[in-house]
Amino acid sequence: MSRVYNFSAGPAVLPEEVLKEAAEEMLDYRGCGMSVMEMSHRSKMFSDILESAEADLRDLMGIPDNYKVLFLQGGGSLQFAMVPLNLMPHGAADYIVTGQWAKKAFKEAQKFGDVKAIASSEDKTFSYIPDCSDLPVRENADYVYICENNTIYGTKYKKLPNTKGKILVADQSSCFLSEPVDVEKYGMIWGGVQKNVGPAGLVVAIIREDLIPKEELPGVPTMLQYKTQADAGSLYNTPNCYGIYICGKVFQWLKKQGGLSAMKERNEKKAAVLYDYLDQSKLFKGTVVKEDRSLMNVPFVTGDKDLDAEFVKAAKEAGFENLKGHRTVGGMRASIYNAMPKEGIQALVEFMTDFEKKHL
Ligand code: PMP
Repeated sequence: MSRVYNFSAGPAVLPEEVLKEAAEEMLDYRGCGMSVMEMSHRSKMFSDILESAEADLRDLMGIPDNYKVLFLQGGGSLQFAMVPLNLMPHGAADYIVTGQWAKKAFKEAQKFGDVKAIASSEDKTFSYIPDCSDLPVRENADYVYICENNTIYGTKYKKLPNTKGKILVADQSSCFLSEPVDVEKYGMIWGGVQKNVGPAGLVVAIIREDLIPKEELPGVPTMLQYKTQADAGSLYNTPNCYGIYICGKVFQWLKKQGGLSAMKERNEKKAAVLYDYLDQSKLFKGTVVKEDRSLMNVPFVTGDKDLDAEFVKAAKEAGFENLKGHRTVGGMRASIYNAMPKEGIQALVEFMTDFEKKHL
């Protein structure tokens, strides 16, 4: 067996310990004679898996009791519709557009009401987070929406926007569980799990209970109503059972690592290895303003497209996978999620140093 250093933005690297444990349990989960994949979602075995996953997540993030935790399907992109369908009782919402995923969410929400972009960083290719201390948040807005970590551009909010009393909704897909968060500052947090937590096709949504519509929403498909899954404890229909099982294992792994404060410290040290190198390199440079740099996604360029391509190719040959930047922006991007070991980043920096010597 040989494993590469996988810098993919998602689906992405998972903790080896978790994968090994899942492999050991593949054919016979704890003596029940079947795989979690083969198990009824109504069985006691699976209920235990679901309940422990939720309890561990609540513990890790310090989720207050008045917030529901939902395990949903449809990927991150379905939340672009579910958020406005469910959380916009007055039909208006304000969006901060800091990248393609925020923009997609904004465009989707426009299908459902009076939705306005109140700030954007598109003028400089989304390379920064706009000043959100005094935005023109509208009086009638039901919520303010952000994408907290911008996977493609490598920016992250270091300070949450001043929403002027409105509810904050955050897509945390690419920074989920990478550091502690104060859940009470949000009306809703959601994240697709395929970056920091588990296999694709599962979304974790954390929603303040009073924001979930009390009555069924007329004209909205049953599966697209948070109420449906909240009332049914994420078991209205067959959930992504295997995905929930792997996420549960990752939650346990995170607890063993010391929880989210320990992860933050580790992630800062890891990211510094790469950013410090980029800051002194004469060949490679980071594309994001320093104060808004993400700890999870690090884009960089040489300034020469052909050389970028040569670098990605050479890196792949040396065992560093998925370093090509997003298809819409080019260059390179190293995604260094929780499960990427520091040694992986150190090895990448050594490789880059070597490449730089040969190409300057
Ligand atoms: N939000 C963010 C921040 C993302 O990075 C992504 C996917 N890369 C999405 C949403 C969309 O997720 P999905 O592909 O699961 O629809």
